Amino acid sequence: MRFSVNNKKTTLTVETILAQGLGWMDDANNGLIPGIFPGTTFEREADNSYPNGRVYTRDQNPNYDQPEAVLAALEAGEDALLFSSGMSAAVSVFQALKPGDHIVAPEVMYWALRNWLLTLGSEWGLKVTFVPNGDIDALKKAVIPGETVLLWMETPANPTWVVDDIAAWAEVAQSVGAFLAVDNTVATPLLCRPIDFGADIVMHSATKYLNGHSDVLAGALITKNQDGFWDRVKKVRNAGGAVLGPFEAWLLMRGMRTMSVRVRQACNNAMAIARALENHPDVEEVLYPGLESHPGHAISKKQMSGGFGGMMSVRVKGGESAAVKVAANLQLFKRATSLGGVESLVEHRASIEGEGTPCPADLLRLSIGIENSDDLIADLKQGLEAE
Ligand code: PLP
Repeated sequence: MRFSVNNKKTTLTVETILAQGLGWMDDANNGLIPGIFPGTTFEREADNSYPNGRVYTRDQNPNYDQPEAVLAALEAGEDALLFSSGMSAAVSVFQALKPGDHIVAPEVMYWALRNWLLTLGSEWGLKVTFVPNGDIDALKKAVIPGETVLLWMETPANPTWVVDDIAAWAEVAQSVGAFLAVDNTVATPLLCRPIDFGADIVMHSATKYLNGHSDVLAGALITKNQDGFWDRVKKVRNAGGAVLGPFEAWLLMRGMRTMSVRVRQACNNAMAIARALENHPDVEEVLYPGLESHPGHAISKKQMSGGFGGMMSVRVKGGESAAVKVAANLQLFKRATSLGGVESLVEHRASIEGEGTPCPADLLRLSIGIENSDDLIADLKQGLEAE
């Protein structure tokens, strides 16, 4: 038994969609959990047809069907596609464009994607304009009628968590007939659904909150409409083969089933930590959209519900060396890149982003996990206060 996979008809809440995975089962054995299908190829019938539509696993593995249906339902889109990583999902959108196409993206965004746009994307012929985050007037000036085909945004944006107004970006995109794509990795569909605010495409690094256990690399795209552009994105995936293995797709689905409780706990912990550190004498600034002092707080309240996410950054008094020392002092927070797992992580972000980063040198990025917030606060305080 499956629930309606046409999300437009789904009245279920995100929590129920996630916990029950839209009711997908192992039909052959009546098992509650679908199995893993490792086969790469499918037999033709004697009449030369493929009755179930599957030919070859490159983009037709049965283990993609459930997570893709769940992702489409979560984001209120018509269709979803899994990819081998968040980067391959994002890059597939750009590869579906044509050389000479103009796109606009924010200055603060996931650094590896910004680098891709600046190097390989530009070499391939994409024209990219970066605009300051939060500056709608700059965005309006940057779009070129007849040339701008795509606006790319990320909110809250990694790693300073500046916030952009999705509805305002959608309006600018529509004014020049461009698509709007939103990297929704950090907010997750639990807290924000960009399509509700006018986005055309939503992207996720499923490596993060969707999977949630730091053990799967995956990406996803969800589309509002199954239009000609989406057909091109599908062709890019089919031809390039940047897909997940069936085991990873199965693991991702298992992780997604608990996402609502993980994300809520991370949000609660993050809020408690932000409050505990905002007036700490060794802290220059806490960057967290949940704080009233955050410049993007009002917009976050408008477009996020149920929390402000599990990501924050702390600017440490004393500059880069002081920040690196605090990271070294922490015991519970693991010094590692990535985010969205059940365990808390700390990262001196400028070290990984390198030259040209808009990230301040005194910034520590925190991915807040689902541990007890008192333990995490105690660890941060001892890390900041250690001699
Ligand atoms: N988007 C954001 C906001 C990210 O943080 C990341 C990875 O850190 C990506 C995209 C890229 O995803 P992946 O590492 O799955 O390729």
